[in-house]
Amino acid sequence: MLDPEQQILHSTPAQSGTEKNEGKSANHIQMALNENPFGPSPQVLEAIGNAAVKSNYYPDNLQLELREILAHKTGVRPEEVLITAGSAAFLEIAAHTLLFPGANAVTSARSYIMYRIVTEAAGANLIKAPIFQNTFDLDAIHTLLNPETRVVFIANPNNPTGTIIEPCALERFLDRLPEHVSVVIDEAYYDFADYFARVRGREYSRSLDYVRQGRNVLVLRSFSKVHSLAGLRIGYGIASDRMMRRFAQRRMRFSVSNVAAAAALAALADTEHVQKTLENNTTGAEWLKKEVEDSGVAATTTWGNFLYLETGDSADSLANRIEKYGIIVRPLTDWGAPTALRVTIGTPAQNEQFATALSKARKTHC
Ligand SMILES: *Cc1c(COP(=O)(O)O)cnc(C)c1O
Repeated sequence: MLDPEQQILHSTPAQSGTEKNEGKSANHIQMALNENPFGPSPQVLEAIGNAAVKSNYYPDNLQLELREILAHKTGVRPEEVLITAGSAAFLEIAAHTLLFPGANAVTSARSYIMYRIVTEAAGANLIKAPIFQNTFDLDAIHTLLNPETRVVFIANPNNPTGTIIEPCALERFLDRLPEHVSVVIDEAYYDFADYFARVRGREYSRSLDYVRQGRNVLVLRSFSKVHSLAGLRIGYGIASDRMMRRFAQRRMRFSVSNVAAAAALAALADTEHVQKTLENNTTGAEWLKKEVEDSGVAATTTWGNFLYLETGDSADSLANRIEKYGIIVRPLTDWGAPTALRVTIGTPAQNEQFATALSKARKTHC
């Protein structure tokens, strides 16, 4: 499969390091894009089939049913929820709504590549604060804010490092934020982090409180990760009615298909599949971290469905060698981490195959 992040960065095939993956992925294990290794559940597939029969009709543009369920689940009002074609589409809407030529957005180095893409597409500049111990440095971000700053992008958990920001630190940051700056809190890995927090006895996120308090905060969530729907393109944002009215105007009508909406509704109802995914991920993350560390590779403690590995080796070359053993992982050279790899937590069998491949690949050098 073609890496979408890479595809945007390298639009000519000659420049791309991963286009060779296209068509090959059928016999490769894909552990590069943080997808759900179990696929959609049978109930979701059934809902997709039922919705597909009605594909001749336009979808409900307002997605009322899904918004009401999400609003109920998250404790906000339906007007404060907007469904988009993946959270990437919401990032684009937010950038086009809040940014303009001459304005800037601030984020951390080594965070989600899409922040730069959407900021530049809106004609604005992305300013990156240095990352501190693989975590967002909110003080460093604060010192970079200027009168032209309109947005701060925060990935919590961060992709690719897997770290979170403690609620108290985030609140101190929000409390001293100037009025003209909105914060996008990207919680694509919300369910994984929330589950880890319960297992670890820690607190993860109070993001919805900020929305209810009427702060300039947009919370983004996705159906691509724990709910297994990356290919159907559906995600959502939660923000105050006041902010949401502006975003809603920018959303393309009918851009969320009836099939995607039906799949999302079924995926939300299938708590068993979510639970299976979360348990597998938590066990797998712990197992894989120990396994790679035993072989001399450092791994951060993840709050998502992936591990960030410091290999001490050229990540591009190592990823190529790992691919020879049938596994595709993500080298992070173009994220400013030339010796780091990101690997998605898979099924137990996939994790074992990756650990073996990594260890073999580290012993070969060509
Ligand atoms: C995967 C991911 C998303 C989700 O993107 P979709 O467009 O919903 O598939 C958003 N933000 C981050 C940081 C991610 O890693």
